[in-house]
Amino acid sequence: MRQIIAGNWKMNGKFSDIAPFVATIVQAETEAELIICPPFPMLQSFAAALPAGKGSIGGQNCHANLAGAHTGDVAAALLAEAGAKYVILGHSERRMDHGETNADVAGKVLAAMNAGLIPIVCVGETGPERDAGEEMHIVHTQLTHSLPDSFAGIIAYEPVWAIGTGRTPSEAEVAAMHAHIRANLVARFAEDGAKTPILYGGSVKPGNAAALLALPEVGGALVGGASLFAADFLAIAASAPRG
Ligand code: PEP
Repeated sequence: MRQIIAGNWKMNGKFSDIAPFVATIVQAETEAELIICPPFPMLQSFAAALPAGKGSIGGQNCHANLAGAHTGDVAAALLAEAGAKYVILGHSERRMDHGETNADVAGKVLAAMNAGLIPIVCVGETGPERDAGEEMHIVHTQLTHSLPDSFAGIIAYEPVWAIGTGRTPSEAEVAAMHAHIRANLVARFAEDGAKTPILYGGSVKPGNAAALLALPEVGGALVGGASLFAADFLAIAASAPRG
C-alpha cells in the first residue's frame, strides 16, 4: 500500500513560506501520498499552490457540530471547502491543551467523515504511562473510545514523550505497538480495519525515517518539526518504501 507522509505544521508558518515549500516538495521522487496540515488561515492558499497530484492539504482540528456558537472553532465542512482532504484529530497537544476527551475526538471524527474528510486520529501514551508498562492498555482505550462504530480514516501512533523531544521508541517497540493497533482495528472493523493505514509520529527525521517506515504495519509518518523544512520533509518522503 502507498505510504502516507503527513506534515503537521502546528502553530507555525506564514504565507511567505508556501511558495518556497511547494517549489521544493514538487520535486519529490516518491510514491508516498504527501499531506501538509498548515494553520487554518493558510489552508486555501496552500491548496491553491500545490499542483494536482503533488500532495494534499489537511486541517489540524475541527468541531463536532456542523455550525453554531463555538468561538475559535472550525467546521469540518468549511475545512473541506477550503481545500482540505484530511484533518488531524485527537493530537496529544489538543488532548492536553484543550482537555479533549476520547468522546470529544469520536464526535469530531464523525463530523469529519460526514463532511467527506479523511480523519487522521492520533493515539499514544505519555512517558509515565510507558514507564508503568501501561502503553498497550492506554492505546487500546483511546482507540476504543475515539473511533466511532464505523470508521474510514487513518490512525497515527504518536507516543507523547517522543513528540518534539528527539527521542523515539525502539524499532521493536514501534513494531509491537503497530501490531497491537492493527489487532484492535481488525477485531473491531474486520476487513476495513486490516486496510486502515497506521502512521508513526514522534521525532521522525531524515536520519531515522527509513528504519521506522520499513517496520511492519507502519504505513507512513506524521511529522511535526521536520515538516517545516521542505528539504527534510522531502528526504523523509524519499525514505518511504515503494509500493
Ligand atoms: C507531532 O506533533 O505530530 C509530531 C510528530 O511532532 P515531531 O515530529 O516534532 O515530534
